Amino acid sequence: MTPLDTARIRADFPVLATHQRGRLPAYLDSACTTLRPEPVTRAIAERARAGAGCPGRAYHRLGREATATLEEAREAVRAFLDAGRAEEVVFVRGATEALNLVASGLPLRPGDTVLVTGIEHNSNLLPWQRLARRSAARLRVHRIDVATGFDPAAFARDLDPSVRVVAIPHVSNLCGIELPVADVCEAAHRVGAVVVVDGAQAVGTRPVSVRALGADFYALSFHKMMGPGGIGALYGRADLLDRLEPLLLGGNTVDDATYESPTLAPVPARLEAGVPAADLLAGVVAAIRWVGALDPAAVRAHLLDLNRAATVALLALPRVSLIGPPDPAARGGIVNFHVRGVPSRDLALLLDDREAVMVRHGKQCVHAWYRAEGVPDSVRASFAVYNTLDEVERLTRVVRSVASMIG
Ligand code: PLP
Repeated sequence: MTPLDTARIRADFPVLATHQRGRLPAYLDSACTTLRPEPVTRAIAERARAGAGCPGRAYHRLGREATATLEEAREAVRAFLDAGRAEEVVFVRGATEALNLVASGLPLRPGDTVLVTGIEHNSNLLPWQRLARRSAARLRVHRIDVATGFDPAAFARDLDPSVRVVAIPHVSNLCGIELPVADVCEAAHRVGAVVVVDGAQAVGTRPVSVRALGADFYALSFHKMMGPGGIGALYGRADLLDRLEPLLLGGNTVDDATYESPTLAPVPARLEAGVPAADLLAGVVAAIRWVGALDPAAVRAHLLDLNRAATVALLALPRVSLIGPPDPAARGGIVNFHVRGVPSRDLALLLDDREAVMVRHGKQCVHAWYRAEGVPDSVRASFAVYNTLDEVERLTRVVRSVASMIG
């Protein structure tokens, strides 16, 4: 394994060379959204400059070119996720929309159970809460002790035959742990449940094969993997997508319509209402290419180096607690922590002000977990391939000064 050439990688991100009050920014918020490398922004601009055209419906030259971009992107995502067929990839605005699409379109009956974990992002909890309310299904929450991680045997005990849907994160945005998705899918399929995987935090930091995982649905956002904002994808097994009720209806979703009713188009068009975003799709293709050029083992080693340095320094401080397992190898690129007595917002502002270190503060869109655990909030630093040990040192220096000031 050749280590990542961080200097070369950073050259693709001009914002990292743009001073902020005399300091270079230390962007440690990639779990929220990654920066976009130059080839991605260039691909979007070039596609836009080349002209517009409605993909899939205009047959003039510009329309045909836009259609080619849509098809290229669909095939690129299929290959990236190792899906069987391009039609199993549905373009949406992001993981949130993908999860809403599944939760609004699955037929459930009163008494059916949806099983989720206790560490779901709001986007993989609220849509299921609503589905349960509307269909008189039950929502069961499988609580996870984040310090010790996911326990497959305990999870299996919650999988009774009433469970029709299992919704889990592939990687948690709360604590960075990776769930054994393949094992969960196998156990869920044994009771006849479908598994909906929130892959927002997994793609881009490790290879994903939806076929090897056995996932029935897999949701992702490209802005979390160096791609453009406002676009994501839902992978769905072909037979399940065919039965999924569309979330939105309108242009693109029909083969024909009368004043009374439509004849819906086959998937994926049936689930992709409106004109597809060709400019963004060009950026998606470029992002997949950019991420695909990195050696996954080198990415993992780099994130571990950064996370280890952050973890060792933070755990040595008074008043600091980590959310998640103490071992950085179990947390990918995420270190989520709180400093007792210091509101996370104040710490985040101080980090930005003193060292141009950008982190996420608050309840990290996992409000239910914070409420249940009585943890008020936290600061989450999250690393990507463009980050350096020097940036981690700037993070821990500020936290050290704050913790020792009040400790
Ligand atoms: N799921 C997880 C685990 C996330 O971290 C996020 C984003 O923060 C989402 C879902 C929602 O992604 P988006 O806002 O791009 O739809």
